[in-house]
Amino acid sequence: MKKPFITKNQVEEIVKTYPTPFHIYDEKAIRENARLLKQAFSWNEGYKEFFAVKATPNPTILKILKSEGCGCDCSSYTELLMSEKAGITGSEIMFSSNDTPENEFAFAAKLGATINLDDYTHIKFLKDTCGIPETISCRYNPGGTFSISTTIMDNPGDAKYGMTKEQLIQAYIDLKEAGAKRFGLHSFLASNTVTNEYYPTLAKILFEVAVEIKEKTGISLSFINLSGGIGIPYTPDKEPNDILAIGEGVRKAYEEILTPAGLGNISIYTELGRFMLGPYGHLVTKAIHQKHIHKEYIGVDACAVNLMRPAMYGAYHHITVLGKENEPCSFKYDITGSLCENNDKFAIDRMLPKIDMGDYLVIHDTGAHGFAMGYNYNGKLKSAELLLCEDGSIKQIRRAETPEDYFATLEGYWDV
Ligand SMILES: *Cc1c(COP(=O)(O)O)cnc(C)c1O
Repeated sequence: MKKPFITKNQVEEIVKTYPTPFHIYDEKAIRENARLLKQAFSWNEGYKEFFAVKATPNPTILKILKSEGCGCDCSSYTELLMSEKAGITGSEIMFSSNDTPENEFAFAAKLGATINLDDYTHIKFLKDTCGIPETISCRYNPGGTFSISTTIMDNPGDAKYGMTKEQLIQAYIDLKEAGAKRFGLHSFLASNTVTNEYYPTLAKILFEVAVEIKEKTGISLSFINLSGGIGIPYTPDKEPNDILAIGEGVRKAYEEILTPAGLGNISIYTELGRFMLGPYGHLVTKAIHQKHIHKEYIGVDACAVNLMRPAMYGAYHHITVLGKENEPCSFKYDITGSLCENNDKFAIDRMLPKIDMGDYLVIHDTGAHGFAMGYNYNGKLKSAELLLCEDGSIKQIRRAETPEDYFATLEGYWDV
């Protein structure tokens, strides 16, 4: 069973200051999870997590994670700016972008971020833009399908990211010739994996490539970046990943492949987003309409603008009706937002307790790729983000948008 980290009483207090809808994050749980991740990889001396900023781009969250030893993984100019403003700079930033504009490479280089090249042609592009830095990383795409035992997890052959093996080897040779001194390898082969085998399987692939790179180029990599992809159980029937078992699986592969090849000094990096924040955020919304036509609809005051995953991927997000946690789920509802789009539904045919107008609903697991994916369709405004602090107090960490924010880009254009 999924249990919200806030109660009806707490929400009734919060809404006196911050009306629904809002996103709220659980600081204590975020910290505990970050510490567990660090522990899982404590066997590796150089281990570091670079939090994927795109998952939850909020400076307060970035600073909480920084205080737990995490850096940032950025892939755009504004993500770099946010990291810098949050006090995370230099080698604390991994710049894992793709289709990268010149000015973004230039800014990443200026901040001293570690640049992770998505393509072979980016070597020349980077050289012409700002020169080749001493530390550089390359992204690998093995092609084909990616399987764990007999289950196909994803299709790297169809993915736009990374370089082929041949390009990768040539890239290291060229980069070394251009003056680079420390080299990294990166790959992201499957998203939201709910299995302890993903990282160990990926690690084996990358460790074997590291050995091949050493044989063919003489280069000993300094770091291997396992990137993101560790998932969370969105549905209540799934078991969460065991991060300690995942860390141990990677350690075994390391001891089997890297250590005997004389590559036992390689640092392991991760770029997790969903795993770091997903379960520790809720979208809180209020039931404001009930509609009884061919189906039963509950209209809430949040919409896909606040959480796009159900509309975009048909993703399941668990819902708890606050104060009715122990009532039987004997009513079948579609829970809808207000967009003029029929896919604006947080749940379809969901069995829930009887919902009354004014009830507060917690939409679970919105801490990553939740607020972040927001947009402004139908002129809807983005909500506030709140933090449930470790001491139980509530802090607003981003105010809600106002119409002035929405119209800001039209300033000076009303009379043309
Ligand atoms: C999205 C992304 C991540 C984070 O992915 P999660 O699934 O949230 O862990 C990490 N690295 C890169 C390059 C990404 O694009």
